[in-house]
Amino acid sequence: MTDTVVLWFRQDLRIHDLPALHAASKDGRQILPIYILDEDAPGDWKIGGASRWWLHHSLTALATDIESLGGKLIFRRGNSLSILRELCEANNAEAIYCSRRYEPWAAKEENTLHESFKNDEITFKRFPGALLHEPGTVMTQGGGPFKVFTPFWRACRKNETPRPIEKTAANWSDCSASDVLDDWELLPRNPDWAAQWSEYWKPGETGARERLHAFLDDTVSRYADERDLPAVDATSRMSAHLHHGEISPRQIWAMCEQKRLELPHSDTAINKFQAELGWREFSYHLLHFFPHIPESPFKENFAQFPWQANETYLQAWQQGQTGYPIVDAGMRELWATGIMHNRVRMVVASFLCKHLLQHWRSGEDWFWDTLVDADLASNGCSWQWVAGSGADAAPYFRIFNPVTQGEKFDKQGEYVRRWVPEISDLPNKYLHKPWEAPDDILEQAGIVLGQQYPAPIVDHREARQAALDAYEHIRLSS
Ligand code: FAD
Repeated sequence: MTDTVVLWFRQDLRIHDLPALHAASKDGRQILPIYILDEDAPGDWKIGGASRWWLHHSLTALATDIESLGGKLIFRRGNSLSILRELCEANNAEAIYCSRRYEPWAAKEENTLHESFKNDEITFKRFPGALLHEPGTVMTQGGGPFKVFTPFWRACRKNETPRPIEKTAANWSDCSASDVLDDWELLPRNPDWAAQWSEYWKPGETGARERLHAFLDDTVSRYADERDLPAVDATSRMSAHLHHGEISPRQIWAMCEQKRLELPHSDTAINKFQAELGWREFSYHLLHFFPHIPESPFKENFAQFPWQANETYLQAWQQGQTGYPIVDAGMRELWATGIMHNRVRMVVASFLCKHLLQHWRSGEDWFWDTLVDADLASNGCSWQWVAGSGADAAPYFRIFNPVTQGEKFDKQGEYVRRWVPEISDLPNKYLHKPWEAPDDILEQAGIVLGQQYPAPIVDHREARQAALDAYEHIRLSS
């Protein structure tokens, strides 16, 4: 054995504040960095299309960063166990270090590796790094998992928030046997639906830090007041960077605290922003204790919910052709950019589950494929939250009205006009409900409903009643 440690990158594509790297670098040991694309491990949760785009660029950035420090990131595709074993044997490595993941398949894989390497006398070690508080460290007084956000977050705030690691000096290896990243074909081709995405995103650690600085310098003070307005650039857009581990939540936390000292009047806004990071923590905590959440309802009675699978409805929703402008704007923003504003995510998700009575799983799957921040914990918990079946969920009978949501959060219609340009000449009064516009107004705006833009796919009032009736069905039967 030599003093070489394999550093297995997973969903932690950064080199700063990385506990696994920090530990591996102790005593000047050689670091052999590898990323493995193991497409069988996640089963049904293979990386979605938008995430593959992000992953390609994030890995490119990580490889460049490591190269600038004298190392070489190895890319290999296949079974993680076999590849890691082969790499250790070829390089006489004594240990494998990685950051812990929380998806059920990943946690299972870690246990298998731990057991297998014990027999090979190779140390397999997992480190934290993706969360502020590891699952299991914040529990109710009775020792059980929290199922409600507010007490969970209150308990988290009582724990000390760990500070990021100051600096890691690593001795990188430049062992060169590697796949060529382009050969993995993570990027879309024929058609390249992500051709414009570089205008919106800069994946990688540098991009993550630049975006966070821009948010904290220019925007955070407006966060509490404007975070619900989809036309305004008032949120951090950190979710995809966080999901891929290009930045750690404790780095974000520490920078927020620094900003708090500079901008004492922004206390409320910073607290609000940090509480959103808390929702991310809560989602991971729920996934850890209730690993079925991405696939089956947290509230068991929802297993009896009378969903009405309808391919026409689902496609209209996916394509932004429902006839409800705020819903269509959100779905088109998602397709064009790989992201959707949080307020609009809630509206489109509610519309799918409650107005169209489509199973939340079909929405979750679509988001999984199309979001650059697609995340098993946050996506699963959020869909269940909207559907009413989740932990601490919105009550089922609270049904978002897509017209009033549009009028409230997109008052001037900038968001809808940006993404649904065919109705942009409608006056604000009718922009969120074109079907109520008199014929002459529609004519002036150049619209014939059902031609340039669809008539509403369902009537709001009728759909609302049908949803309440469906809910009554499970309420009575449970
Ligand atoms: P900010 O408002 O700047 O918030 C800061 C960070 O807090 C985010 O980057 C994110 O990491 C976290 N956060 C904020 N809101 C939530 C939330 N409700 N739940 C969990 N974490 C949160 N978020 C994902 O990261 N991945 C998903 O796959 C995902 N799917 C969603 C599906 C639905 C139906 C809904 C309603 C929400 C979903 N969210 C998901 C949560 C939220 O919409 C996004 O995290 C947020 O819009 C990202 O934008 P931002 O980074 O500008 O957020």
